[in-house]
Amino acid sequence: MQIKRFVFFSLITLIVMAVLGEQLMYSRDFQLFGKIVSQVKTNDKVVALTLDDGPSIQYTDAVLKILNEYDIKATFFVVGQEMHRFKDQAKKIVQQGHELGNHSYTHPRMIFKTLPTIRQEIEKTDEAIRAAGYQGDIHFRAPYTQKLLVLPWYLARTNRLNISWSIGPDSRTTAKLPKDANTMTQYVLENIQPGSIILLHVMYENGDASRKALPMIIEAVQAEGYQFVTVSELLEQN
Ligand SMILES: [Zn+2]
Repeated sequence: MQIKRFVFFSLITLIVMAVLGEQLMYSRDFQLFGKIVSQVKTNDKVVALTLDDGPSIQYTDAVLKILNEYDIKATFFVVGQEMHRFKDQAKKIVQQGHELGNHSYTHPRMIFKTLPTIRQEIEKTDEAIRAAGYQGDIHFRAPYTQKLLVLPWYLARTNRLNISWSIGPDSRTTAKLPKDANTMTQYVLENIQPGSIILLHVMYENGDASRKALPMIIEAVQAEGYQFVTVSELLEQN
C-alpha cells in the first residue's frame, strides 16, 4: 500500500514539475534570474518592431527598403552564424541605423545546454555584431523563447536583458498563428498598446505573409498615432 502511495505521489510531483517547467520554459514575462521584458510600461504611444533571425541573402534588402520608405528604425535579433555568412547584409542593417540584438549563434533550444555552450552561443554572436560595426547596447532574445536555469543565470551574470515580445507568435502554438497578411495586421491592431514589442519573422522563405504584412502593420500602427522606436529607446521609457 505504501509503495503504491509513493508511486502515486511521485507521479503527481513529476507531472506538476513538468507543467511548471513548461510554463517557465516558454514564459515571455518570467525567468528565474535576471530580467525578461515582453513590454514596457509607458503612457507614450511608442512601440518597438523586432525582426527575428537572419540576416539572409534573399530578403534583407527588401526588408530594409520597406523600413527605409517609412523612415522607421527596427531591432533585428540576428543569428551569429548568419552574420558571419552574410557580412554585407549584416553591415547594411547597421549602416541604416537599426538596432541589433543577439539571438544566439546557431539558434538552438537553449534549455539543457551547458554553461560553456551557452557562453559561446552568446559571446560569438556579440562578436559578430560588433564586427558588423554596431556600437549600441546589445540585448538578447532566446531562440523559441526557451530557457530554464543556465541561460537566465548567464544573462543575469553578464548584465544582459532577455527581450521577448507582447505581440507575435506563441512558440508553443505557431500552427495557430494568422497565416495571411490581413489577419496578421488585424491581430497587431487589436493588441497594440503603448510599450508593445511586436515580433515578425521576415528573413526566410516561410516569412512571405510577414513580409507582406510589414508595410501594412507599419501603416496601420502609425495611423493609430504610434511611433516606432528601437528596443533600447523603448527601455528608456521605464
Ligand atoms: Zn528565432
